[in-house]
Order: sequence, then structure tokens, then C-alpha cells
Amino acid sequence: MKKTDMKPKTIKILGFTYRVHVCDQSQFPEGFRDNNVGHVHHDTSDIYISTKCSRENQISILIHEVVHTISSKQGLNLTEETVIRLETGLFSFFSDNDFQPFKVLDEVDEVDEVDETLPECGNEIAPGIDIR
Ligand SMILES: [Zn+2]
Repeated sequence: MKKTDMKPKTIKILGFTYRVHVCDQSQFPEGFRDNNVGHVHHDTSDIYISTKCSRENQISILIHEVVHTISSKQGLNLTEETVIRLETGLFSFFSDNDFQPFKVLDEVDEVDEVDETLPECGNEIAPGIDIR
């Protein structure tokens, strides 16, 4: 079975399912094959990542395309430079901490008992929305 015949992995972004294709750039949609190592196609919910990049770069590209998608779906209109800066920051945070959100929270719950004397943690960006 050729790699391109394999079923793509899917991820959810803001409730929308996106197929992730790690493939040769010749498989990217027309108009996005040259000078692009990653591309998100919002109309078809497909994310393309070039096989010519290292695994680390592929992960960074995936983060980049996820940031683009959040920007688009939330109407943030982030510039390419801002998307790149968020990609770099998030990739660094995830890789430097071997970050696996749900696993990390499970480990914290096992070690630390909840201190009932502490005030409830809220979301300071959007008060009233609990992000835990
Ligand atoms: Zn971009």
C-alpha cells in the first residue's frame, strides 16, 4: 500500500473534523504545491503537510495550520507573521515540556490533592468560562 493510499488521520478543531495528510507536495491542492510545506484547505477540511520536512517540522507545520484554522473560524484575521510567532511559541512549549495535556492533568491529579482553601480558578480572559 502506498503512503498516499492510507486513510488520513483526523483531528478536531473547534468541533470541526479535519483530515491530516502527510504527503508529497504534488498531492497538495493546485495552486498550493510550490513554496508551501503546509496548507489548510478550509472548504474541504483538509490539512496538508509535506513529507520533505523533518518530523519536528511536520509537527510545527500542523500547529501552524491549526492556528490558521482557529484564526479563520474565530474571525481573528491573524497575520501570517502572528501565526508563525504563535506556531513557534506553541511548538516550543509543547516540545520543551513533552506536553500531552490530558496525561499531564491526570498526573497532577494523582500527586496533588485539591486545596479547598484556594479560590475557584476562573478564566480571566473570558470570566465565567471554566477552562479546567
Ligand atoms: Zn501560514
